[in-house]
Amino acid sequence: MIPCNDSKRLFKQYQDEFENAALEVLRSGWYVLGENVKAFEEEFSKSISSRFCVGVDNGTNAIKLGIQALGIKDGDEVIVQANTYIATVLGITANRATPVFVEPNDFYNMDGDQIEDKITKKTKAIIVTHLYGQATNMEKILTLCKKYNLFLLEDCAQSHYAEYKGKKVGTFGKFGFFSFYPTKNIGAFGDGGAIVTDDEELYKKVMMLRNYGSTIRYQFELENGSNSRLDEMQAALLRVKINHRDEITNEKIAIAKAYLMGINNPLIELPKVDKDCTSVWHLFVLKLDDRDAFVKHMLDCGVKTDIHYPIPPHLSKCYKYLGHKVGDYPKTEYLSNHIVDLPIFNGMTNEEIEEIIKAVNSYGK
Ligand SMILES: *Cc1c(COP(=O)(O)O)cnc(C)c1O
Repeated sequence: MIPCNDSKRLFKQYQDEFENAALEVLRSGWYVLGENVKAFEEEFSKSISSRFCVGVDNGTNAIKLGIQALGIKDGDEVIVQANTYIATVLGITANRATPVFVEPNDFYNMDGDQIEDKITKKTKAIIVTHLYGQATNMEKILTLCKKYNLFLLEDCAQSHYAEYKGKKVGTFGKFGFFSFYPTKNIGAFGDGGAIVTDDEELYKKVMMLRNYGSTIRYQFELENGSNSRLDEMQAALLRVKINHRDEITNEKIAIAKAYLMGINNPLIELPKVDKDCTSVWHLFVLKLDDRDAFVKHMLDCGVKTDIHYPIPPHLSKCYKYLGHKVGDYPKTEYLSNHIVDLPIFNGMTNEEIEEIIKAVNSYGK
């Protein structure tokens, strides 16, 4: 059976480097906020051309702390795409602000044409999720943020090093949020996350918020600080991946290219890449009528598939209090019932890729 993901394969590609980095941390006796976190922050911000980076414990808390640092709170509204992962929305509601959902475009990203109607006097920010690895077309979104004086935020958890008009995602607005969950394009060996910004004041604020609201030991300046630090072990291991980021990213792009060239089945709609955007292919998402039949066919062919995501946030139980119902976001709801993703991970063999293409092409025949 071909799995949907296998983190061991990429580990093996650079095994010596990972093991040496880990051993060094173990032997150093210094495990929280040390040289590796500092070096990671410098290397990561440099790699995406952002001025500052704060390493945090995971992507969800990156979003939560960023929104907190902007003072967004109770009674404020934040525009977010309806088909994102729940964590984007959790970052909003953890600050007791209200998410206002917008439908996606044909590239599964936020549809710039659907936003303006949703802007009210309470709107404080737009958070864009560059979903499945593809940069969002930012043209209209940038214009609207300027016109209505809104903070632009980017959830880049799935899109490390994707670009819009040659500029890397995470650098368009006030904050870029990253996750290094093991299966992300750049993944840690445990949880990890980062916030990037060009704004020095906000940088300082987030540095405090992740560390009990303090920069100087035992001087607590900010209310509601958290313990949301990236640890030395994850930082050291992530530095290895950042160093190999081009190979790691290009390998996934090559798999996607093979799928795009090889899959040819009229029952299946392949993913498309928008004008001026690149994709780093975190996920390879297909759209089709009878998903259950397809999933079963693939299993019969020895291929596991996955769904990102079967239940959209507005219909999730935790957001019942927002009062949304089935039919409120028909495009998002349609997608949640008709999309499915193929295995795409570092270290896949050519044989596996060929087998998957053959299986997809034999569906319905
Ligand atoms: C994974 C993910 C997150 C959350 O990151 P964690 O590190 O798992 O907390 C947020 N947003 C999106 C779009 C994600 O895919």
